[in-house]
Amino acid sequence: MTSTAHPAHQAHATGSAGPATPFAESPFAYAPAPESTAVVDLRDSYGLFVDGTFVAGTGTPFTTINPATEEPLAQVAEASDADVDAAVRAARRAFEQVWGPMPGSERAKYLFRIARIIQERSRELAVLETLDNGKPIRESRDVDVPTVAAHFFYYAGWADKLEHGGHGTTPLGVAAQVIPWNFPLLMLAWKIAPALACGNTVVLKPAETTPLTALLFAEICQQADLPPGVVNIVTGAGATGRALVEHPGVDKVAFTGSTEVGRGIARAVAGTSKRVTLELGGKAANIVFDDAPIDQAVEGIVDGIFFNQGHVCCAGSRLLVQETIAEEVLDRLKRRMETLRVGDPLDKNTDLGAINSAAQLARIRELSEVGDAEGAERWSPACELPERGFWFAPTLFTGVTQAHRIAREEIFGPVLSVLTFRTPAEAIEKANNTPYGLSAGVWSEKGSRILEVAERLRAGVVWANTFNRFDPTSPFGGYQESGYGREGGRHGLAAYLQGGHA
Ligand code: NAD
Ligand code: MN
Repeated sequence: MTSTAHPAHQAHATGSAGPATPFAESPFAYAPAPESTAVVDLRDSYGLFVDGTFVAGTGTPFTTINPATEEPLAQVAEASDADVDAAVRAARRAFEQVWGPMPGSERAKYLFRIARIIQERSRELAVLETLDNGKPIRESRDVDVPTVAAHFFYYAGWADKLEHGGHGTTPLGVAAQVIPWNFPLLMLAWKIAPALACGNTVVLKPAETTPLTALLFAEICQQADLPPGVVNIVTGAGATGRALVEHPGVDKVAFTGSTEVGRGIARAVAGTSKRVTLELGGKAANIVFDDAPIDQAVEGIVDGIFFNQGHVCCAGSRLLVQETIAEEVLDRLKRRMETLRVGDPLDKNTDLGAINSAAQLARIRELSEVGDAEGAERWSPACELPERGFWFAPTLFTGVTQAHRIAREEIFGPVLSVLTFRTPAEAIEKANNTPYGLSAGVWSEKGSRILEVAERLRAGVVWANTFNRFDPTSPFGGYQESGYGREGGRHGLAAYLQGGHA
């Protein structure tokens, strides 16, 4: 095996630990195919993006690391209350003087321009996302970034057609948007694209472990000549997020993240005139009936829980499999899991990258140990994990009951709980037995059964014979503790217009 001499590759070289194969010592031994990081122009330190320019923050700068290597990537400014205030004021000015009064057909031109630049700079965005987040380059390149561009194109198309959307044409004003680390750029797109299309201006706070692609997006706004103040990016952790959502100058709060923080935000804005949308966690059931095409279902199960290391709010973390085929499905699932490649996220062959942070790894470990203690049986394929960085092998638990915490709580990692059922009624009852209600999957060859079951599942999104499909034209959002409001599609406009209800 010859390796390219790129420094980023050397740092990862020991990390590409796939499953042991009979070819290990042969000329066909695994050869990593790392993406080059040369396309990314990493700076030592990053400021805040306020009123169209990068400014120094007045808080205490923090370091963002590469979770696959634990190496620092850059120093990032922390926005203090005063910095947040300056960003909200800039957004207010831009809303009143430029963006609010601008015709929708003009706003559309900026959004189309941003979408095109995202496509042009897609490789740079994908590599930077993978470096800062730990997700496989195959996913950032083929899923995240293309969906980001698609979202901007889609909402660009709405900007001059709002009168046909059903929620009026009057924007809310300044939107405060706080997003998590699992899909840094995609969550940014879900928040910013509809807000701008409707004529609002925004102040967005990315997560503290993944701020870099939001700052690159700020550069893209400059490149697109977006008027100053229309988009502002403030970096920092929970305190910065709180200062932003509690600022009296914001008209709308949009949050994606944990149920706990979401509840706090709902309390903080109660009694104000601020509108709020919350996209919180999930504990989706992936239901496999005995007539399902099993190989396809196994692919869907794997995609449902191991995509993005399971850091997905709509992950299919509860497998409900019909008892008659449970043994066969589990056999094939285990065989498939043995082929998953865990390691260097920049390697184009990697299936599972790094866990995003030490804190998230600790949460996954802790809840998995609860699974052991509750008597569920843990299984993982043999896989060698890199020494540096944060890693968790793909894992499944069998013998899980509905009372187990691993069946009730969001693990937000590559951990699948397997339960069985006998009848469709039992499957529906178990699937709905959760405080969440974001998504679900149904696998069956019978269209009528899919429709019958889907109708009775209390979940915002139900996938049939597929999982984790995202499309900007389709609304996404949940019931109960999964939050409220919809993102995507015509429904997504409601959250940013006076005539909408969310
Ligand atoms: P979190 O809710 O703490 O963080 C999400 C975002 O909110 C980050 O930008 C964070 O800085 C900000 N934030 C934190 N406290 C805030 C506050 N008081 N006011 C305003 N903003 C605040 O999530 P986490 O700690 O990164 O993850 C914890 C758990 O949350 C995970 O294990 C997972 O179960 C869940 N989670 C869900 C999603 C999702 O997409 N629904 C995303 C991330 C995490
Ligand atoms: Mn990081």
